Amino acid sequence: MIIFVLNCGSSSLKFQIIETDLDMIELDADRMLAKGLIERVGSQSLITFQVEGQPPYKSAEPIRDHRQALNYAVKWITNPETKIPGIIDVSDIHAIGHRCVHGAEKFKKAVLIDKQVIEMIEDCIPLAPLHNPANLKGIYAARDLFGPSVPMVAIFDTSFHSLMPELAYMYAIPYQLYRRFQIRKYGFHGTSHRFLAYRYRKLTGKSREDTKIITLHLGNGCSACAIKKGISVDTSMGLTPLDGLMMGTRCGDIDPTVIEFLAHNEGVSMDEVFSTLNKRSGLLGISGLTNDMRDLLLEEKEHQDRRATLAIDMFCNRIKKYVGAYISEMNGADAICFTAGIGENSPEIRRRSCIGLEYFGIQIDDELNEKAIRGKEMKISTPDSKIDVYVIPTNEELVLARDTVRVVLDAPRIW
Ligand code: ADP
Repeated sequence: MIIFVLNCGSSSLKFQIIETDLDMIELDADRMLAKGLIERVGSQSLITFQVEGQPPYKSAEPIRDHRQALNYAVKWITNPETKIPGIIDVSDIHAIGHRCVHGAEKFKKAVLIDKQVIEMIEDCIPLAPLHNPANLKGIYAARDLFGPSVPMVAIFDTSFHSLMPELAYMYAIPYQLYRRFQIRKYGFHGTSHRFLAYRYRKLTGKSREDTKIITLHLGNGCSACAIKKGISVDTSMGLTPLDGLMMGTRCGDIDPTVIEFLAHNEGVSMDEVFSTLNKRSGLLGISGLTNDMRDLLLEEKEHQDRRATLAIDMFCNRIKKYVGAYISEMNGADAICFTAGIGENSPEIRRRSCIGLEYFGIQIDDELNEKAIRGKEMKISTPDSKIDVYVIPTNEELVLARDTVRVVLDAPRIW
């Protein structure tokens, strides 16, 4: 089957075209045929499309909204000169998989999209006001462009965490508030954490029952997850993706009193306070320079910038705290797995995040750590490290494509 995987963010549209079916999943033989990214939707957009194995097509032009962006992508896909294997027109796409951010307690697994599902995703908007509306725009536009006969599947970031035990997902606030508003920890990056757990089992040959791992998704957004017997038993993001680890522009864990204090003393609205915590905090807020870890590491190296160092040290220290907490929560761990932009590309951050974890018997092999570059799965701990450390490149699109196939064919979920 040829699956179109769509990921609409607040001002971006990402897609991949993946050939896969139940046999290909079994054999790990899925094929990515083409991918694309449109950034800055709503203004002068940057477009990068690429057929696998070919040089990229790049362009910059104004794109009004997600509908126009998807239209642009579909025109490129079906252009005879693009030559994506197996694709001549839109009818060659067998199904569409939509990444959806927040499924609250309504969606515990991927589902076929119908009118009722759309209404339920709309109901989750208050919990993800930036993300869910963009996901819905992608769903509406795809329905119009591909036609009603192409099945569409919604896959939620929150689903993987839906089996978390109550003691991990409840906040210690009056229980009635959970009953009335479902205020609880939901967790995000579920497809990524789930993929890492699956790859770890593949790499080691261990069964689900046999594994206890800690996954660290460190990109622009960052989250940690404790996975026991294949189930997410705790994760660092909460009701929304603002909680937990320190991120590029988000603060992560914070005393809630800071919010009232800021609103009162700065004389600003709640919206402005949350804008500060979401967009002007984290690495950017502490360094005063940038949210990009690459640039911070460079600043530190070339100019010994004190606040760049502070931002990096705080970032790594927060990771360490979560690793320690999750080892305690699971009564041990077999492995720690790093992924995403920072986790896959930065030996320095991996090294600094593991300093001081020797007490748990965690030892990184510096040479292997330096060798682990993007796109490569590698064990980077020493042979006598009590807990293994891995770098595993994430592949959220593959998870979305596979889930789409399983839902469309009504096949059981294997991982
Ligand atoms: P997103 O969370 O938006 O999907 P990514 O997972 O691609 O993003 O992560 C993006 C982040 O990865 C960038 O902000 C950058 O800080 C970081 N990054 C990418 N390459 C490197 C590198 N070589 N060293 C350190 N950080 C890097």
